[in-house]
Amino acid sequence: MKILITGGAGFIGSHLCDRLIGVGAGSDSGSKHEIFVIDDLSTGSIENIEHLKVHKNFHYVIDTITNKSLMRELIDKCDVIYHLAAAVGVKLIMERPVHTIETNIYGTELIFQCAAQKGKRTIIASTSEVYGKSSKIPFSEDDDLVLGPTNIARWSYACSKAIDEYLAHAYWNEKRLPVTVVRFFNTVGPRQVGHYGMVIPRFIKSALAGENLTIYGDGHQSRCFGHVNDIVRALDELKDANNTLGETINLGQPEEISINELAVKIIEMCESKSKLQYVSFDEAYGPGFEDMKKRVPDISKAKRLFGFTPKYKLNDILRDTISYHRQHQLSSRS
Ligand code: UDP
Repeated sequence: MKILITGGAGFIGSHLCDRLIGVGAGSDSGSKHEIFVIDDLSTGSIENIEHLKVHKNFHYVIDTITNKSLMRELIDKCDVIYHLAAAVGVKLIMERPVHTIETNIYGTELIFQCAAQKGKRTIIASTSEVYGKSSKIPFSEDDDLVLGPTNIARWSYACSKAIDEYLAHAYWNEKRLPVTVVRFFNTVGPRQVGHYGMVIPRFIKSALAGENLTIYGDGHQSRCFGHVNDIVRALDELKDANNTLGETINLGQPEEISINELAVKIIEMCESKSKLQYVSFDEAYGPGFEDMKKRVPDISKAKRLFGFTPKYKLNDILRDTISYHRQHQLSSRS
Protein backbone atom coordinates (compact mmCIF):
# COMPACT_ATOMS: atom_id res chain seq x y z
CA MET A 1 0.00 0.00 0.00
CA LYS A 2 1.16 3.57 -0.63
CA ILE A 3 0.67 5.70 2.44
CA LEU A 4 1.04 9.46 2.90
CA ILE A 5 1.85 10.76 6.38
CA THR A 6 1.61 14.52 6.83
CA GLY A 7 3.77 15.52 9.78
CA GLY A 8 5.74 12.29 9.31
CA ALA A 9 8.93 13.79 10.80
CA GLY A 10 7.11 14.62 14.02
CA PHE A 11 7.06 12.57 17.20
CA ILE A 12 3.99 10.41 16.49
CA GLY A 13 4.41 10.61 12.69
CA SER A 14 7.93 9.20 12.71
CA HIS A 15 6.89 6.27 14.92
CA LEU A 16 4.02 5.62 12.51
CA CYS A 17 6.52 5.59 9.61
CA ASP A 18 8.64 3.01 11.49
CA ARG A 19 5.66 0.80 12.09
CA LEU A 20 4.23 0.95 8.57
CA ILE A 21 7.57 0.45 6.89
CA GLY A 22 8.46 -2.37 9.30
CA VAL A 23 11.41 -1.11 11.41
CA GLY A 24 11.93 -0.39 15.11
CA ALA A 25 10.17 -1.16 18.39
CA GLY A 26 6.68 -0.10 17.34
CA SER A 27 6.60 -2.29 14.21
CA ASP A 28 5.54 -5.73 15.36
CA SER A 29 3.11 -6.15 12.47
CA GLY A 30 5.87 -6.94 9.98
CA SER A 31 3.83 -4.97 7.43
CA LYS A 32 5.68 -3.40 4.55
CA HIS A 33 4.25 -0.36 2.87
CA GLU A 34 5.63 2.44 0.72
CA ILE A 35 5.67 5.62 2.78
CA PHE A 36 5.53 9.23 1.64
CA VAL A 37 6.11 11.97 4.21
CA ILE A 38 5.49 15.70 4.00
CA ASP A 39 6.72 17.82 6.90
CA ASP A 40 7.74 21.46 7.21
CA LEU A 41 9.96 20.68 10.23
CA SER A 42 8.22 23.39 12.28
CA THR A 43 7.98 21.07 15.28
CA GLY A 44 9.19 17.84 13.66
CA SER A 45 12.84 17.04 13.11
CA ILE A 46 14.87 15.48 10.32
CA GLU A 47 16.66 13.43 13.00
CA ASN A 48 13.41 11.54 13.62
CA ILE A 49 13.46 10.10 10.09
CA GLU A 50 17.23 10.01 9.48
CA HIS A 51 17.32 6.21 9.91
CA LEU A 52 14.58 5.78 7.28
CA LYS A 53 16.24 7.76 4.51
CA VAL A 54 18.16 4.71 3.26
CA HIS A 55 14.99 2.64 2.99
CA LYS A 56 13.83 2.08 -0.58
CA ASN A 57 10.17 2.33 0.47
CA PHE A 58 10.61 5.68 2.21
CA HIS A 59 10.23 9.07 0.51
CA TYR A 60 10.01 12.50 2.08
CA VAL A 61 9.58 16.10 1.11
CA ILE A 62 10.21 19.13 3.31
CA ASP A 63 7.35 21.48 2.51
CA THR A 64 4.13 22.85 3.91
CA ILE A 65 0.78 21.07 3.64
CA THR A 66 -0.61 24.35 2.31
CA ASN A 67 1.28 23.77 -1.00
CA LYS A 68 -1.79 22.83 -3.01
CA SER A 69 -0.24 21.34 -6.17
CA LEU A 70 2.18 19.24 -4.15
CA MET A 71 -0.57 17.95 -1.86
CA ARG A 72 -2.71 17.03 -4.82
CA GLU A 73 0.16 15.07 -6.37
CA LEU A 74 0.96 13.22 -3.12
CA ILE A 75 -2.66 12.37 -2.37
CA ASP A 76 -3.25 11.14 -5.94
CA LYS A 77 -0.27 8.81 -5.56
CA CYS A 78 -1.31 7.26 -2.22
CA ASP A 79 -4.04 4.86 -1.08
CA VAL A 80 -4.22 6.04 2.55
CA ILE A 81 -3.62 9.46 4.08
CA TYR A 82 -2.70 10.00 7.71
CA HIS A 83 -3.06 13.71 8.40
CA LEU A 84 -0.95 14.37 11.49
CA ALA A 85 0.62 17.71 10.52
CA ALA A 86 -0.62 20.41 12.88
CA ALA A 87 0.54 23.19 15.12
CA VAL A 88 0.74 21.35 18.48
CA GLY A 89 1.92 21.90 22.04
CA VAL A 90 0.45 24.34 24.52
CA LYS A 91 3.53 26.59 24.53
CA LEU A 92 3.60 26.94 20.73
CA ILE A 93 -0.10 27.67 20.63
CA MET A 94 0.24 30.40 23.22
CA GLU A 95 3.20 31.93 21.35
CA ARG A 96 1.92 31.63 17.74
CA PRO A 97 -1.90 31.68 17.72
CA VAL A 98 -2.23 32.93 14.10
CA HIS A 99 0.03 30.19 12.78
CA THR A 100 -1.94 27.61 14.81
CA ILE A 101 -5.32 28.58 13.44
CA GLU A 102 -4.12 28.94 9.83
CA THR A 103 -2.20 25.66 9.69
CA ASN A 104 -4.81 23.62 11.46
CA ILE A 105 -7.80 24.82 9.48
CA TYR A 106 -6.61 25.75 5.99
CA GLY A 107 -4.19 22.79 5.68
CA THR A 108 -6.84 20.28 6.68
CA GLU A 109 -9.44 21.67 4.32
CA LEU A 110 -7.03 21.35 1.42
CA ILE A 111 -6.25 17.73 2.29
CA PHE A 112 -9.94 16.81 2.58
CA GLN A 113 -10.69 18.49 -0.77
CA CYS A 114 -7.97 16.53 -2.60
CA ALA A 115 -8.74 13.26 -0.79
CA ALA A 116 -12.49 13.55 -1.42
CA GLN A 117 -12.01 14.01 -5.17
CA LYS A 118 -10.36 10.58 -5.33
CA GLY A 119 -12.23 8.93 -2.43
CA LYS A 120 -8.97 8.22 -0.54
CA ARG A 121 -9.03 6.64 2.94
CA THR A 122 -8.13 9.42 5.36
CA ILE A 123 -7.35 9.42 9.06
CA ILE A 124 -7.06 12.78 10.77
CA ALA A 125 -5.44 13.41 14.14
CA SER A 126 -7.36 15.52 16.60
CA THR A 127 -6.79 15.99 20.30
CA SER A 128 -8.32 15.55 23.73
CA GLU A 129 -7.92 19.35 24.00
CA VAL A 130 -11.27 19.59 22.20
CA TYR A 131 -13.03 18.45 25.40
CA GLY A 132 -11.79 21.76 26.83
CA LYS A 133 -12.48 22.42 30.48
CA SER A 134 -15.30 19.93 30.83
CA SER A 135 -15.06 18.28 34.26
CA LYS A 136 -16.59 15.00 33.16
CA ILE A 137 -14.65 11.79 33.89
CA PRO A 138 -13.91 10.01 31.65
CA PHE A 139 -14.29 11.86 28.33
CA SER A 140 -16.40 9.98 25.78
CA GLU A 141 -16.61 10.84 22.11
CA ASP A 142 -20.21 12.06 22.26
CA ASP A 143 -19.66 14.41 25.21
CA ASP A 144 -20.17 18.16 24.96
CA LEU A 145 -17.09 20.29 24.32
CA VAL A 146 -16.61 23.06 26.89
CA LEU A 147 -14.33 25.76 25.56
CA GLY A 148 -13.28 29.05 27.15
CA PRO A 149 -13.58 32.57 25.69
CA THR A 150 -12.11 33.48 22.31
CA ASN A 151 -9.63 35.99 23.75
CA ILE A 152 -7.74 33.16 25.46
CA ALA A 153 -5.29 31.68 22.96
CA ARG A 154 -5.29 28.21 24.50
CA TRP A 155 -8.82 27.58 23.26
CA SER A 156 -7.90 28.53 19.70
CA TYR A 157 -6.05 25.23 19.37
CA ALA A 158 -9.03 23.22 20.66
CA CYS A 159 -11.34 25.21 18.45
CA SER A 160 -9.19 24.81 15.34
CA LYS A 161 -9.12 21.03 15.83
CA ALA A 162 -12.87 20.99 16.53
CA ILE A 163 -13.39 22.73 13.17
CA ASP A 164 -11.22 20.04 11.57
CA GLU A 165 -13.51 17.45 13.12
CA TYR A 166 -16.64 19.21 11.84
CA LEU A 167 -15.02 19.35 8.41
CA ALA A 168 -14.24 15.62 8.54
CA HIS A 169 -17.85 14.77 9.38
CA ALA A 170 -19.12 17.17 6.72
CA TYR A 171 -16.88 15.57 4.07
CA TRP A 172 -18.03 12.09 5.15
CA ASN A 173 -21.73 13.01 5.13
CA GLU A 174 -21.78 15.13 2.00
CA LYS A 175 -18.92 13.83 -0.16
CA ARG A 176 -18.51 10.27 1.22
CA LEU A 177 -14.86 10.90 2.08
CA PRO A 178 -13.86 7.68 3.94
CA VAL A 179 -12.49 9.50 6.96
CA THR A 180 -11.93 8.72 10.66
CA VAL A 181 -11.12 11.28 13.36
CA VAL A 182 -8.83 10.18 16.19
CA ARG A 183 -8.53 12.17 19.40
CA PHE A 184 -5.09 11.67 20.94
CA PHE A 185 -4.77 11.98 24.68
CA ASN A 186 -1.34 12.78 26.16
CA THR A 187 0.98 10.59 24.09
CA VAL A 188 4.55 9.99 25.19
CA GLY A 189 7.66 8.05 24.19
CA PRO A 190 11.10 8.28 22.65
CA ARG A 191 11.75 11.31 20.35
CA GLN A 192 9.20 13.57 22.03
CA VAL A 193 10.80 16.89 22.92
CA GLY A 194 9.81 19.30 25.66
CA HIS A 195 10.32 22.57 23.78
CA TYR A 196 6.61 23.04 23.15
CA GLY A 197 5.10 22.04 26.52
CA MET A 198 5.03 18.23 26.99
CA VAL A 199 5.63 17.56 30.66
CA ILE A 200 7.31 14.12 30.62
CA PRO A 201 10.31 14.92 28.40
CA ARG A 202 10.75 18.20 30.31
CA PHE A 203 10.78 16.44 33.69
CA ILE A 204 13.10 13.66 32.48
CA LYS A 205 15.61 16.12 31.02
CA SER A 206 15.66 18.12 34.24
CA ALA A 207 15.94 15.01 36.42
CA LEU A 208 18.83 13.61 34.37
CA ALA A 209 20.61 16.97 34.50
CA GLY A 210 20.07 17.25 38.29
CA GLU A 211 18.05 20.45 37.80
CA ASN A 212 14.75 21.41 39.48
CA LEU A 213 11.56 19.98 37.96
CA THR A 214 9.24 22.90 37.34
CA ILE A 215 5.62 22.20 38.27
CA TYR A 216 3.01 24.59 36.95
CA GLY A 217 0.22 25.43 39.43
CA ASP A 218 -0.08 23.26 42.55
CA GLY A 219 0.65 19.95 40.76
CA HIS A 220 -2.68 18.42 41.84
CA GLN A 221 -3.86 18.41 38.22
CA SER A 222 -3.66 14.96 36.66
CA ARG A 223 -3.18 13.42 33.23
CA CYS A 224 -3.31 9.98 31.61
CA PHE A 225 -0.32 9.12 29.45
CA GLY A 226 -0.29 6.68 26.53
CA HIS A 227 2.72 5.02 24.89
CA VAL A 228 3.37 6.09 21.31
CA ASN A 229 3.78 2.40 20.31
CA ASP A 230 0.19 1.70 21.37
CA ILE A 231 -1.04 4.75 19.50
CA VAL A 232 0.70 3.91 16.20
CA ARG A 233 -0.48 0.31 16.41
CA ALA A 234 -4.03 1.63 16.71
CA LEU A 235 -3.50 3.98 13.75
CA ASP A 236 -2.20 1.09 11.65
CA GLU A 237 -5.20 -1.14 12.51
CA LEU A 238 -7.65 1.69 11.97
CA LYS A 239 -6.86 2.09 8.28
CA ASP A 240 -8.37 -1.35 7.60
CA ALA A 241 -11.35 -1.03 9.97
CA ASN A 242 -14.24 0.01 7.73
CA ASN A 243 -16.59 0.23 10.70
CA THR A 244 -14.66 3.36 11.78
CA LEU A 245 -15.61 5.44 8.71
CA GLY A 246 -17.30 8.70 9.71
CA GLU A 247 -16.45 8.05 13.39
CA THR A 248 -14.55 10.02 16.03
CA ILE A 249 -12.45 7.81 18.32
CA ASN A 250 -10.48 8.47 21.53
CA LEU A 251 -6.98 6.97 21.68
CA GLY A 252 -5.14 6.94 25.00
CA GLN A 253 -4.41 5.00 28.16
CA PRO A 254 -6.74 5.63 31.13
CA GLU A 255 -4.25 5.23 34.04
CA GLU A 256 -4.26 8.57 35.86
CA ILE A 257 -1.42 10.31 37.75
CA SER A 258 -1.09 13.77 39.30
CA ILE A 259 1.74 16.00 38.08
CA ASN A 260 3.21 16.00 41.62
CA GLU A 261 3.28 12.18 41.71
CA LEU A 262 4.67 12.09 38.19
CA ALA A 263 7.55 14.39 39.15
CA VAL A 264 8.45 12.29 42.19
CA LYS A 265 8.29 9.05 40.18
CA ILE A 266 10.54 10.45 37.45
CA ILE A 267 13.11 11.66 40.00
CA GLU A 268 13.14 8.17 41.55
CA MET A 269 13.38 6.33 38.23
CA CYS A 270 16.22 8.61 37.07
CA GLU A 271 18.00 8.13 40.45
CA SER A 272 18.23 11.90 40.54
CA LYS A 273 18.70 14.38 43.38
CA SER A 274 16.53 17.02 41.67
CA LYS A 275 13.93 18.96 43.66
CA LEU A 276 10.47 20.24 42.79
CA GLN A 277 9.95 23.93 42.04
CA TYR A 278 6.50 25.49 41.72
CA VAL A 279 5.60 28.32 39.31
CA SER A 280 2.20 29.81 38.58
CA PHE A 281 0.40 29.20 35.26
CA ASP A 282 0.67 32.94 34.58
CA GLU A 283 4.43 32.77 34.90
CA ALA A 284 4.64 29.63 32.78
CA TYR A 285 2.30 30.57 29.92
CA GLY A 286 1.44 34.26 30.33
CA PRO A 287 -1.58 35.88 31.98
CA GLY A 288 -5.07 34.38 31.66
CA PHE A 289 -3.99 30.78 31.06
CA GLU A 290 -6.47 28.08 32.08
CA ASP A 291 -5.30 24.53 32.77
CA MET A 292 -7.44 21.38 32.86
CA LYS A 293 -7.66 19.62 36.23
CA LYS A 294 -8.12 16.15 34.77
CA ARG A 295 -8.30 14.47 31.41
CA VAL A 296 -9.19 10.78 31.35
CA PRO A 297 -10.02 8.94 28.10
CA ASP A 298 -12.95 6.56 27.71
CA ILE A 299 -11.46 4.08 25.22
CA SER A 300 -14.39 1.68 25.09
CA LYS A 301 -15.35 2.79 21.57
CA ALA A 302 -11.86 2.01 20.19
CA LYS A 303 -12.03 -1.37 21.90
CA ARG A 304 -15.48 -2.09 20.54
CA LEU A 305 -14.74 -1.04 16.96
CA PHE A 306 -11.30 -2.53 16.40
CA GLY A 307 -10.21 -4.27 19.60
CA PHE A 308 -7.88 -1.53 20.87
CA THR A 309 -6.33 -2.27 24.29
CA PRO A 310 -3.17 -0.41 25.38
CA LYS A 311 -0.28 -2.78 26.14
CA TYR A 312 1.92 -0.24 27.93
CA LYS A 313 1.39 1.17 31.44
CA LEU A 314 2.89 4.38 32.79
CA ASN A 315 5.97 2.59 34.18
CA ASP A 316 6.77 1.15 30.73
CA ILE A 317 6.31 4.55 29.15
CA LEU A 318 8.64 6.23 31.65
CA ARG A 319 11.21 3.42 31.38
CA ASP A 320 11.37 3.68 27.56
CA THR A 321 11.40 7.46 27.54
CA ILE A 322 14.07 7.76 30.26
CA SER A 323 16.25 5.23 28.48
CA TYR A 324 15.92 7.22 25.22
CA HIS A 325 16.89 10.47 26.96
CA ARG A 326 19.86 8.82 28.70
CA GLN A 327 21.16 7.53 25.35
CA HIS A 328 20.51 10.84 23.69
CA GLN A 329 22.33 12.72 26.42
CA LEU A 330 25.32 10.40 26.04
CA SER A 331 25.40 10.60 22.26
CA SER A 332 25.10 14.40 22.25
CA ARG A 333 28.05 14.58 24.67
CA SER A 334 30.28 12.25 22.61
N1 UDP B 1 3.37 20.91 33.26
C1 UDP B 1 4.21 21.17 34.33
N2 UDP B 1 5.52 21.46 34.08
C2 UDP B 1 6.05 21.47 32.82
C3 UDP B 1 5.18 21.22 31.71
C4 UDP B 1 3.84 20.94 31.97
O1 UDP B 1 3.78 21.15 35.49
O2 UDP B 1 7.26 21.71 32.66
C5 UDP B 1 1.94 20.58 33.52
C6 UDP B 1 0.94 21.36 32.66
O3 UDP B 1 0.58 22.58 33.24
C7 UDP B 1 -0.23 20.37 32.62
C8 UDP B 1 0.45 19.00 32.65
O4 UDP B 1 1.76 19.22 33.17
O5 UDP B 1 -1.03 20.51 33.76
C9 UDP B 1 0.57 18.36 31.25
O6 UDP B 1 1.17 19.30 30.39
P1 UDP B 1 1.49 19.00 28.85
O7 UDP B 1 1.95 20.29 28.23
O8 UDP B 1 2.40 17.83 28.75
O9 UDP B 1 0.11 18.54 28.24
P2 UDP B 1 -1.39 19.16 28.30
O10 UDP B 1 -1.39 20.40 29.12
O11 UDP B 1 -1.71 19.38 26.88
O12 UDP B 1 -2.16 18.05 28.93
